[in-house]
Parts: sequence; structure tokens; C-alpha cells
Amino acid sequence: MQLAKRLDRLPPYLFVDINQKIAELRAKGEDIISFAIGDPDSPTPSHIIESMCQAAHDPSNHKYPETGGTEGLRRAIAEWYEKRFGVILNPDREVLPLIGSKEGIGHMALCFIEPGDIALVTDPGYPVYSVSTILAGGESYSVPLKEENDFLPDLDAIPGETADKAKLMWLNYPNNPTGATAGLDFFEKAVHFSQRHNLAVCHDAAYTEVAFDGYHPPSFMQASEAREVGVEFHSLSKTYHMTGWRIGMVVGNAEMIDALFRVKSNLDSGVPQAIQQAAIEALRGPQDCIVEHNVVLQRRRDRLAEALNRIGLRAKVPKAGFYIWAKVPQGYTSVDFTKKLLAETGIAVTPGSSYGKEGEGYVRFSLTLPDNRLEQGIDRLLAWYRRDK
Ligand SMILES: *Cc1c(COP(=O)(O)O)cnc(C)c1O
Repeated sequence: MQLAKRLDRLPPYLFVDINQKIAELRAKGEDIISFAIGDPDSPTPSHIIESMCQAAHDPSNHKYPETGGTEGLRRAIAEWYEKRFGVILNPDREVLPLIGSKEGIGHMALCFIEPGDIALVTDPGYPVYSVSTILAGGESYSVPLKEENDFLPDLDAIPGETADKAKLMWLNYPNNPTGATAGLDFFEKAVHFSQRHNLAVCHDAAYTEVAFDGYHPPSFMQASEAREVGVEFHSLSKTYHMTGWRIGMVVGNAEMIDALFRVKSNLDSGVPQAIQQAAIEALRGPQDCIVEHNVVLQRRRDRLAEALNRIGLRAKVPKAGFYIWAKVPQGYTSVDFTKKLLAETGIAVTPGSSYGKEGEGYVRFSLTLPDNRLEQGIDRLLAWYRRDK
């Protein structure tokens, strides 16, 4: 048996080591509090589940779905974009449901990247952008996200010939893992940049609905001419606590969406229809759950950010997303600090370096753990700090 070389090009999964440590400690009976998981801790709202259950009883939903999704879902997505962002989409040409946005993000590379091609990928970043580039045979060019630039890429610092050669540019705001947000002015800049260098933009907007202090993050599609140059990936996962159901969407440039449709129609048969029905209910039904989730997360954000800054883990208070990106103390790498924290407090976090080399020197705390666990975690951190001093 001989596996393909592309598997060797996949980056080492830094978390394996730490996950193993967590498993060992738990086996010894230690109570590990995990701030490492980015997955909502409360269930999918019940009106969404009800609608899925009803649809599951309908035999017409027991058949193969269509790759392009039901017309009803495509319309519901277009209506949601209009209501939320004022963006008008053609539901037949500019909308495509996905089996979770991760699926579409992964497959989009196959539409653009040939062996040796370049994708511009922000670093630190959600790992799928660079991994899908590698699996398609290409190379990702790291565009650093620096704290002094508010974790926005300095597009003008990308060498002109690299930008000319690149086929794709990946962006993600509100950003995972840094918690940074981008205004419409940045998206306009990104459109101009991609026009100048003839590259396609993929914006990942998974967190636009997870936002605080009355802030409503914009969509990349609101930028003028955005649909000439790119698409936006979105998801019901974070918005409606539907990570387990696997449903997302891509909207925008019709040619890119058709290309992705052609790849997907040869690989998958779309989203199970009962889940599409649940998505329609989520998008069209009452939206109170979004506000309720954000109230809870905002309180957790305030509690944790305050505690982290108190113990010298310098952290900005994010306006959106469910992560706090904290600087580790001087003298530690991300992984060293993650291991020390786990060994001495039983608290698990994600080392920033697992999101790219620019993530070195940071750790990511997720807010998606129950309030009482978060409070226990904060108590442990404060006690640990006092003991160490
Ligand atoms: C969670 C997440 C996704 C994936 O969401 P799914 O729709 O569940 O696949 C995409 N991008 C980022 C940045 C995420 O954090």
C-alpha cells in the first residue's frame, strides 16, 4: 500500500499532543476545564428541531437531495441576506447550500488551485484555507495578521508579483482565532486589491451574528462590486447553534458558485432535506435566540477578559466571535504555556501556533463552556496567579 504524498504535506496536528495529555489527566480522575472547544454549549433552539422532526417524517425527504439544495432553502438564504445585510441575491445563481461551510471552503480550492498555484491565506487563521490549498497541490502564501494592525492584513505589503500569481485570497471577519472585526472600508479595499491582481476573494463570515455591545458586523457582499470578485461563506452552525447538523451556504459571484456546484455535484449529493427544512425555519423563524445567545456570551466575555488581564495574559475584549485571543507571558511559547497551564491548573486552551506561525505567542480561550465551568476556570486562574506571585 502506498499513500499519496499529499498526505505528508498536511501540517502536524499540534493538538494531538495536548489532547493526549488531557485524556491522560482525565483518566487519572483530574477535573479538566476546557476552554479549547469552539462549539456552542447550549442546544439548537427547539422550534428548529421541531421543524426538522416533522420534515423527517415526510417520505419525499427520504430520497437523495439535490446538490443545489431546495428552492425553498435558496430563497430563504437570499431573503435572510437581504433582511440582515441589505444584499440582494439571485437565489438560483448566487446562492448554494453547503454541508457546513467547512465543506465548501475545502472544495473551493479544487475550483482554483492547480499544482504550484498560490492562495493568499491570513495567518493566524482557520486551518482549512491552507490545508485545502495543499490538498489541491498548491502553496499557501501567509499574509500575517499583526496586533499593531488590529489583526487586519496589510494588503499593500504583499509583493506585487505574488499577488499577481495568486488565484485566491482567503479572509475571515469576525476572525477566528483573533476576535478581530473588519469594517466595510476594509472589504472595499480587499475588492480593489483583488481587481488589481485578478484574484478571487473568499470571505468566511461564520461569526457575523455572534456579536456584542450592539455591534452588527458587515458582510463582504455589502462592498461595492464584491460579487464581481468573490463569494462569502456563511453557516448556521454558530448563528443558530447547529454545528452538529452540518449546514452552511456560499453566496455571491455566480461563476465561482457554478464552479463549486460542478465540483460538489460530482462528490456529494447535497444536504439531507430534513436539515434543509430546519435551516429554512432557522432563517425565517423568530430570531430571539441570537440575542439570547449573545447576552450569555457577552457576560462570559467580560468575566474572562477581565480575569485574564488581571493575571497578565493581555487580551483585547472582542466585539464579536466566541474567542479571546490572549498574549502568553514573556519567555513562553504558545505550546509551553498551554502545557504549563494544563499541568498546574487543569485548564485546557488552544495554543495560538496551531493557527499558523503568526499565532505564536498567543493562546485562544473559547467562551463556549457553561457559566459554572467558566467561573470555576476563572477561580482556578486567579488562585494560580496568586500562588505563583
Ligand atoms: C466554525 C467555523 C467554520 C465552520 O463552520 P461549519 O459551517 O460548521 O462547517 C468556518 N469558519 C470558521 C472561521 C469557523 O470558526
